[in-house]
Amino acid sequence: MNNSGGFKLRLIIGVVMALMAVLSYYSKTQENPLTGEKQQVSLSPPEEVAMGLQSAPQMAAEYGGLYPDNAIQLKAQSVGNKVLDEFNKYVLQNGHANPYRFEFHVLRDPETINAFALPGGQVFITAGLLSKLKSEDQLAGVLGHEIGHVVYRHSSEQMAKTEFYQGLAGAATAAAGDMNTAQIANYVAQVKLMKFGRDDELESDEFGIKFMIKAGYDPNAMIEVMEILAAAGGGADRDEFMSTHPSPANRIQKIKEHIEKYSKEMD
Ligand SMILES: [Zn+2]
Repeated sequence: MNNSGGFKLRLIIGVVMALMAVLSYYSKTQENPLTGEKQQVSLSPPEEVAMGLQSAPQMAAEYGGLYPDNAIQLKAQSVGNKVLDEFNKYVLQNGHANPYRFEFHVLRDPETINAFALPGGQVFITAGLLSKLKSEDQLAGVLGHEIGHVVYRHSSEQMAKTEFYQGLAGAATAAAGDMNTAQIANYVAQVKLMKFGRDDELESDEFGIKFMIKAGYDPNAMIEVMEILAAAGGGADRDEFMSTHPSPANRIQKIKEHIEKYSKEMD
């Protein structure tokens, strides 16, 4: 009798905890100001920008710091900004302002073949990936894809899910203000381990194609990027660009569809 009472109590506690986790997850619902999509995220856009800016130096340090050539850095910035300008125009036309603050950085690491973005707009490409690219159009495709991850808030969505599964309602406390060194390290580690789902990658591919076309770049360069990545072989799983699902072949098929769709829009 006693035992079954204890079991019931544990069951009730378990159900209450699960309900609280669900409520906490859905209390994070926000409308994305740029896409209109309803999302579960832990941070507001200004918090995303603040946390991205605070953790950018730590993220760079983990890839050997910034690539020590100002001309290369400026090149990445100008190509990234060209794609970004088209997005900003589009956002303004739709009556919004872009809340994110974008910066494009080349990392010194020559081995890692990767590109990624912190929430809020800090975008990185490694020297390893940059050295494999053959054209400005290919670089525009890579950076456009990363801008897409920021705008669609994929990292923040992932973090909200992690908190949900852990049932940690208060895990976003770091978002409230300045982060200390340990919080920055923890945040950077989380972003580095983060793996986006197939839909997130396809969504960012589509975003990149759409705005690289508007910026006057050749979108077929994104297919070439996929081929370069496939030829470079499967890397460590933190290489989000090398992510095995969706397969490069599948991504290329979708990319071709987007090129056709958005090229027509421009005619
Ligand atoms: Zn991606």
